Amino acid sequence: MLLQHLTRQRLEREASARVRRRRVADTPCGPRQLIGGDEGSAHAVLNFASNDYLGLANHPTVVAALAEGARRWGAGSGASHLVSGHSRAHAVLEGELASLLAPWVPDAHALLFCSGYMANLALLTTLGGGEAAIFADKLNHASLIDAGLLADGRMRRYPHGRLDLLEAMLNECSQPLRLIVTDAVFSMDGDLADLPALLALAERHDAWLIIDDAHGFGVLGTHGAGTLAHYDLRSERLIYMGTLGKAAGVAGAFVAAHPAVIDALVQGGRSYIYTTAMPPALAHALSASLALMTGEEGAARRRQLATLIAALRDRLSGLIARDPASGWQLGISATPIQPLIVGDNTAALALAATLEAAGLWVPAIRPPTVPVNTARLRITLSAAHTLDDVERLIDALAACQPGGNHHA
Ligand SMILES: *Cc1c(COP(=O)(O)O)cnc(C)c1O
Repeated sequence: MLLQHLTRQRLEREASARVRRRRVADTPCGPRQLIGGDEGSAHAVLNFASNDYLGLANHPTVVAALAEGARRWGAGSGASHLVSGHSRAHAVLEGELASLLAPWVPDAHALLFCSGYMANLALLTTLGGGEAAIFADKLNHASLIDAGLLADGRMRRYPHGRLDLLEAMLNECSQPLRLIVTDAVFSMDGDLADLPALLALAERHDAWLIIDDAHGFGVLGTHGAGTLAHYDLRSERLIYMGTLGKAAGVAGAFVAAHPAVIDALVQGGRSYIYTTAMPPALAHALSASLALMTGEEGAARRRQLATLIAALRDRLSGLIARDPASGWQLGISATPIQPLIVGDNTAALALAATLEAAGLWVPAIRPPTVPVNTARLRITLSAAHTLDDVERLIDALAACQPGGNHHA
């Protein structure tokens, strides 16, 4: 019965071009990689698929710190943070993260998690249960949606960016405890939430604002401190979640917030309490990555990223203008996430396959990850890319346009 059911499900997926598959990378994360083909033969690709925005995932300093961390701390933490797995390496990293966010989250304390998914689960189930009402942007990351469903409060979702509708919901809300939760940089579109307006709304309606900055941390703002720094927002009502597996190049996540919020997460966050602490060696490596990110090298890497983003957008706009009949659209994004919206699932898959045959790795993102009829290529840039890499992508895309040729 189960197997018949799964077979039927699989066939439905195939019919709607929604089958997902994994690629096996044979080399570390970076712009130039070898990946295994179906037949097991590795081939070279130019990677526009990772979230390694600063190119730190395989940075020699971070890799050396990870090795040193392992020599000093061993391989595993041995237990959850509350039992015996909390090490000095974790505590030091939490202190560094709290200092980094303190200009925007007054008196910030920070708490480490094994992943952003788990941090979001802890946040919404701990703060959003019972008496609380949760207000969430409809395009928030899946982990926030799952977390909101798991919290036993009420989650209301407003259409993407429609703060007028959010305000109407807040006006009607009789629950005293209100949480507004949003991606700071939306993960499939690359656009920014209007955090100043959201914070103003939160203040007017006595709500707290939870910000998921998975794609802004390390990328935006002074020292790469993220989207709050970018907007220069400061308030006790801000609860900040940043992830450490994207721009920071390693793994994990953290929440920076008022000490009472952090204490509530330690006391009641089930995805904090009932899981083994991340290996201390990772925390040690993350301290090194944070030093790069917030220092001169991080600033130089963010400048390189800005140059690449401008070049990619300029060339993509040119391609689209040249062949409007292609129906391609470029999302509005000033971040390393640059969606090329194609519309149809099969067309997006075919485009990704053609690029892959040309040695370019750009993932096709389809529903349910994005709304129906907005299947897209999600191009992500890294400071480790060069302008030549961008040109190679543009040339390959030009050759794919219905009216395209190989010499755009
Ligand atoms: C990646 C991501 C997460 C999950 O973080 P992990 O550390 O990968 O679990 C959460 N929110 C957003 C917006 C993300 O893009």
